[in-house]
Amino acid sequence: MSTSYKNFIGRQVDAKSGKTFENRNPANWDEVLSTFPMSSKEDVDDAVRAARKAFEKWRLVPAPARGDILRRVGDLLTARKEDLARTMTREMGKVLLETRGDVQEGIDTAYYAAAEGRRLFGRTVPSELPNKFNMAIRVPVGVAGIITPWNFPMAIPTWKIFPALVCGNTVVFKPASDTPETAAKLVEILVEAGVPDGVVNIVHGGGSQVGMAIVDHPDIDLISFTGSTGVGKKISEVAAKTLKRVSLELGGKNAQIVMDDARLDLALDGVLWGAFGTTGQRCTATSRLIVQEKAYDKFLSMLIDRTRKLRLGDGLRQETEVGPLVNQGQLETVDRYVKIGTEEGATVLTGGKRAAGDGLSKGWFYEPTILGEVTSSMRVATEEIFGPVLAVIRVKNITEAIEVANSTKYGLSSAVYTQDINNAYQAIRDIRAGITYINAPTIGAEAHMPFGGVKETGNGHREGGWTVYEFYSEWKTVYVDYSGKLQRAQIDT
Ligand code: NAD
Repeated sequence: MSTSYKNFIGRQVDAKSGKTFENRNPANWDEVLSTFPMSSKEDVDDAVRAARKAFEKWRLVPAPARGDILRRVGDLLTARKEDLARTMTREMGKVLLETRGDVQEGIDTAYYAAAEGRRLFGRTVPSELPNKFNMAIRVPVGVAGIITPWNFPMAIPTWKIFPALVCGNTVVFKPASDTPETAAKLVEILVEAGVPDGVVNIVHGGGSQVGMAIVDHPDIDLISFTGSTGVGKKISEVAAKTLKRVSLELGGKNAQIVMDDARLDLALDGVLWGAFGTTGQRCTATSRLIVQEKAYDKFLSMLIDRTRKLRLGDGLRQETEVGPLVNQGQLETVDRYVKIGTEEGATVLTGGKRAAGDGLSKGWFYEPTILGEVTSSMRVATEEIFGPVLAVIRVKNITEAIEVANSTKYGLSSAVYTQDINNAYQAIRDIRAGITYINAPTIGAEAHMPFGGVKETGNGHREGGWTVYEFYSEWKTVYVDYSGKLQRAQIDT
């Protein structure tokens, strides 16, 4: 029996259209998990009205008290971790080990946000004039429009919603329509923990209807979006009309470099986890492997051997290492790219087709795929595929490896395996990416560190850690003159 969910706009409500959409299991598309309202602009209007009204009270709640609510959210997420992880695996496919990690990231973010309620530091700065006091304090921005993808259905919404709330903003949240149930459960937890009505509103539905209505809405003050670079550019254009503050976390084409001097066993575990974890559907997934020439043949044969042994299946099963792709469209994209690669001259070293076998026929399963003989200008080496496809490129030295790593329009994550400290520091200095790992895979961000990328991966903001609080608050500069007379800056000094 599938559950029927509603929007939450101060209370549970259906979409004005009365229409709904289905949420299906990608490991077994016959299974309808739940249904959700197919909302439109009118529903967004209601949510923005509720958020605007609630903002006037919420901004006056002391930040430590807002933080206390987030601490209760962290406790509830902890208590329901297993249920949430199972919900997530069923609606988007990644294995339980990873969905538990996804919830854990939300828990870590909740406790960080709770503590931040007692910081939100401003600054006091000396005045150039006597008997005058200068300070800069943080104030909320207003109503935050939050639009998220399906690949981290818990972590990404929490990265955005928790700091937004602690800073005193209210929220209109549109989750991806592939993962509405995890999002709905998160909002239930926020309400149960004591977030007042109207402070967090969730509107389910499609990107071009609900998402765009949020971006275009004159009464929304900021947009935080994670998703594809194409949609991010559209959002940027539309949001510019109302001069909204916009944070964009977009695509990636992340590379792992393996030098001749690397510990190959370590590099092998790293690339398997980086390329095929979450079935390659992470913004930080390793989609290029750049190997120095002496290590190339040996490392590739080790890699092909282990890749062929990866166990595909329903992510709820303990033995499964690689789950399905999220939907049919994603499966078709992956298959199309493998064809593009072979037409460009790459060789399929393993995989390269839809997976068959017991328990796989009703799901969007694709064999973990390695493409050899790839050159850095091929489309499979430059465009984001977002699936279990790894393009392998051979290089002569660290300088060439870094050049290849930098040769895409993206700049999110990067990894270098080497035992030579000179190689490591050259890579740290010269790789153009928001994140560089040394002797660790391209995936694995920690919640208290800045997260984001350069070039077309984003527009310069960072999520995570202390940095995200910059985005969700405005600086207000305050001068208190207690001299009892007119003092003119730059003139009476
Ligand atoms: P997507 O861009 O298709 O959708 C993301 C969200 O935007 C969804 O909620 C969708 O409904 C909504 N949306 C779609 N069109 C819209 C529009 N015109 N206006 C407003 N909203 C719209 O991305 P996806 O397929 O859900 O996710 C995969 C992409 O996300 C990949 O490119 C991946 O790299 C990226 N991603 C980036 C990060 C990061 O932090 N950099 C993290 C995870 C995923």
